[in-house]
Amino acid sequence: MKELIILGSTGSIGTQSLEVAKAQNIRVRALTAGSNHKLLEEQARQFKPDVVALSDISAAKQLKIALGDTDIKVLSGEEGIIEAATYKGETVLSSIVGIAGLRPTLAAIECGKNIALANKETMVTGGTIVNKLAKEKGVKILPVDSEHSAIFQSLQGALEGSLKKILLTASGGPFFNKTREELKNVTAKDALKHPNWSMGAKITIDSATLMNKGLEVIEAVHLFGVKASDIEVLVHRQSIVHSGVEFSDGAVIAQLGTPDMKIPIQYALTYPERGVKFENLDLFKIGTLTFEKPDLDTFRCLPLCIEAINKGGLYPTAVNGANEESVRLFLEGKIGFLQIAELNEKAMEKAVNKTDYTVEDIFEADLQARETVLKACGII
Ligand code: NAD
Ligand code: MG
Repeated sequence: MKELIILGSTGSIGTQSLEVAKAQNIRVRALTAGSNHKLLEEQARQFKPDVVALSDISAAKQLKIALGDTDIKVLSGEEGIIEAATYKGETVLSSIVGIAGLRPTLAAIECGKNIALANKETMVTGGTIVNKLAKEKGVKILPVDSEHSAIFQSLQGALEGSLKKILLTASGGPFFNKTREELKNVTAKDALKHPNWSMGAKITIDSATLMNKGLEVIEAVHLFGVKASDIEVLVHRQSIVHSGVEFSDGAVIAQLGTPDMKIPIQYALTYPERGVKFENLDLFKIGTLTFEKPDLDTFRCLPLCIEAINKGGLYPTAVNGANEESVRLFLEGKIGFLQIAELNEKAMEKAVNKTDYTVEDIFEADLQARETVLKACGII
């Protein structure tokens, strides 16, 4: 039986991971979250981990009082999250949102744990360092992101050098086929209505801007060792074909399924074995599968991410950091939808690149990009 640590257990991926852990009878050793002490308390009482941690110090104090009648150790702050990430258990499910996931994920790899990776921003910002460390420590990075899990599943049994192209599917989000004019005044409420997936707020906005697909192109470059030019993005409105690969002989293998994150989460936790069925895929009910080219003139974040990974170095960190900030401002109603891409582009222009960089350089570049966004909006 596996032992598991979940980083970001109160989120969309985190809660679904706990459902999978329950279905698979996996022992949960540690759980962490940002500030939701109420839900973390409930999870702790149900799953009985040895350790829990909250990055928010005052929320952790409340949790400590609430769990006073148990033996569960309560930790706080980023150090607390890192301590939990390196606690007993061979696998860490990394599902914190944003670059905040990078340090705890690196710490878990450092102590030899396999990573089930949902937190794509870790790969986007630290992909080179993560891959190097994982190789050194002999740990596996198993993708949880549905597209990357589909690519990984399609590659099972493939010979080295046979992969020619990655077919990365995108739902197109709630604003598919909209013009820039129509997008000028859309609100966070409109953008949060995703047609197929139920996810955290940040990734839902990223799906609406196609930034999510851009981050996924960068993630795929690091996970599968391909160039961005070997990745084709296809808008597939039904979210049934989760992605695929084309081999040297033109054969295409793809993975299909219902849009349910429990499938890729479970595969990352049971690999190479397959787990239980949560839902049935009824292709007769779906009937038609369609594929279209993305509109790169309207949804600027996607080409911007491709530019960032082609330039390399700290550019992906800059575009990611700017985006985390601009999405936050959009969710708070402080900027318009189209400004997200504009601000991300500005941060890319101002970014100072380095090719040989450390984790500290990544956080410095992230901070600079965020400052560029805040200055451009007159907030600082
Ligand atoms: P979410 O917002 O629902 O959950 C995020 C989790 O991280 C929560 O538990 C939150 O408490 C915790 N957290 C936030 N900030 C933190 C911090 N500073 N320190 C420690 N913990 C913190 O997000 P989500 O939708 O579950 O997404 C998580 C990650 O998985 C993201 O990187 C996202 O891109 C990726 N992902 C999500 C989905 C999905 O279906 N939701 C699919 C593919 C990939
Ligand atoms: Mg995805």
